[in-house]
Amino acid sequence: MSERILVLHTGGTIGMTTSPQGYQPAADFPAFLHRRLDPFGLPAFDVIALDHLIDSADLNPSDWSSIAAQLIRYWPDYSGFVILHGTDTMAYTASALSFILQGCDKPVIVTGSQVPLNAVRTDAINNLVNSLLLAAHPDISEVCVCFHGRLLRGNRSTKVKSTAFDAFDSPDLPWLGEAGVHIHLSEGLLLHPGEPHLRELSFDPAAVSVLALYPGIQADIARRLCAAEGLKGLILRSYGVGNVPQGNQALMDVLAAAVNEGVVVVNTSQCLAGGVYQDTYASGSVLSRIGVTPASDMTAEATFAKLHYLIACGESPEQIRALMPLPLRGECSSPDQQV
Ligand code: ASP
Repeated sequence: MSERILVLHTGGTIGMTTSPQGYQPAADFPAFLHRRLDPFGLPAFDVIALDHLIDSADLNPSDWSSIAAQLIRYWPDYSGFVILHGTDTMAYTASALSFILQGCDKPVIVTGSQVPLNAVRTDAINNLVNSLLLAAHPDISEVCVCFHGRLLRGNRSTKVKSTAFDAFDSPDLPWLGEAGVHIHLSEGLLLHPGEPHLRELSFDPAAVSVLALYPGIQADIARRLCAAEGLKGLILRSYGVGNVPQGNQALMDVLAAAVNEGVVVVNTSQCLAGGVYQDTYASGSVLSRIGVTPASDMTAEATFAKLHYLIACGESPEQIRALMPLPLRGECSSPDQQV
């Protein structure tokens, strides 16, 4: 295998240019990328692009399959991969790829930028240079997000700022590395290489839905969501350590009925950090009695991608309920580490 990086361009601001309608994909981005980066003497890389570039706000779970298919196709030929992606749903894609690429034994670095590569004040050069260097690092064998000098585990990352360059963070896990004057990796946090078991999966966009709680939520809203055709998993965005309005009996009945009908209902918090401890309050333990699964300290994006992944793998609702709180690819703390 050659020591060579494959850069897969999927879309996003990084490869866009200004137009009267706002940012849109720039022509012949791969050649432009080479012109900008080749003078730096970085690790050797090739660039390919998806046939249809995606503004990641338009991303669909089926796009995870298209991205993974390219990685699986070229896996034997490259020592590392850089995926250029829009920032809006980057954390979802990084999470999904971390599960799809089971037994990952190479760096897969997902990056993008807040300002296009062809703009004067672009942050793309910094992100690209760091990503290419990290994609050539022999100690990384997992899917990461690299942004603004931070190396984050992909399935722990989340977009925390809409306009700042330090747009991504990893609220419940320290950064895996940092690119300052020197590039420093937190070796103790990195996942060990596995035996690649890469298989293509197809995702049904109707399979997973999200219900965000808010004061005064009506049971009928939840009932309609649960009645949606093809629904197999529902993510609750609850309050604090996983609390819900337990006094809203009609809402509790809707959730209980969904669980009984085989929908996997998973409880994540609207808080950015800290995770779910569902049995702390009576307003949370009601969910344990109903059969709702707590999502531990997973991000909302990782919870969404993991639920989709387990459903796409054809696991039964019981298996999914058992697997959701357990770390498959470092996406959450193991139960004995949870405080
Ligand atoms: N809407 C863009 C996208 O996510 C934003 C970005 O790339 O920063 O594709």
